[in-house]
Amino acid sequence: MTAKIIDGKEFSIKIRKQVKEDVAKIKELTGKIPGLAVILVGEDPASEIYVRNKGKQTTEAGMASFEFKMPDSITQQELIEKIHELNADQHVHGILVQLPLPEGVNENAVINAISPEKDVDGFHIHNSGLLATGQKAMVPCTPLGCIIMLKDNYKDLSGLNAVVVGRSNIVGKPMASLLLNENCTVTIVHSRTKNIEDICRNADIIVAAAGKPQMIKGNWIKKGATIIDVGINRIEIDGKNKLVGDVDFNEAKEVANAITPVPGGVGPMTIACLLKNTVTCFCNINNVEL
Ligand code: NAD
Repeated sequence: MTAKIIDGKEFSIKIRKQVKEDVAKIKELTGKIPGLAVILVGEDPASEIYVRNKGKQTTEAGMASFEFKMPDSITQQELIEKIHELNADQHVHGILVQLPLPEGVNENAVINAISPEKDVDGFHIHNSGLLATGQKAMVPCTPLGCIIMLKDNYKDLSGLNAVVVGRSNIVGKPMASLLLNENCTVTIVHSRTKNIEDICRNADIIVAAAGKPQMIKGNWIKKGATIIDVGINRIEIDGKNKLVGDVDFNEAKEVANAITPVPGGVGPMTIACLLKNTVTCFCNINNVEL
């Protein structure tokens, strides 16, 4: 058995096309365009590339992109003041603070300074509370991309056993809430869980977000399961740098029914969902229905 490859890149192109159409409609209806502000602190090269890519795709979709590069030396208070300024800016509808932040800056304090209606990443406690209680919320982009692909694959997720590997606030926990809201039976496993392999073997769906290269082996997977691999890990194979997920893709594809590749799976969906969320923020703020 060779699994169907869930093509996140192709999916993301469809979402971005829809976003572009929505933006054009918004412009026609209101004379305005959605704007996304991204704050980058420090000079991490990987984050810089990621932020540049976000900006490029934002403008390609017809939206306004505002980029703010802050020095490593910025204080928490200065960062929060910048966020308050963007909260009041009528041209900005989504605010994203690129994580991680430098030591000494409290990430929760910074994220919770973002106005919940401009919380395009869905990390503010207001939005995570809404999601956890099954209410309409801004949903974090990576889990949103995962649930879109899963719903396309299954149509109805009700009653399926789902295992989420990882319990971070940005992937694992919101992913578990989304699966629960779709009536899955959800188990979260993490670095302290015993017998992860056995728990995974019972799963119809595995969402892997541990940041451990190729940790999930073929013999951890139930025949016919669907595997969503969130992990992005750089490893060296035969002297070459390679990007791999948290799942051993070659083994998994022989057992699973469907699987997302790395790269080309969850990654492109995350940015597409960020653009989608920027449109959602605009519509919520301006009472626009598309
Ligand atoms: P994180 O480090 O905040 O959390 C990792 C989680 O995995 C923790 O809850 C930890 O308990 C768990 N974990 C660690 N080792 C484990 C093990 N051996 N067994 C089971 N659980 C274990 O990471 P994160 O921000 O949630 O990201 C997870 C991975 O997803 C990373 O590789 C990251 O690069 C990737 N990621 C990808 C995207 C994307 O767009 N594709 C977006 C966000 C994160």
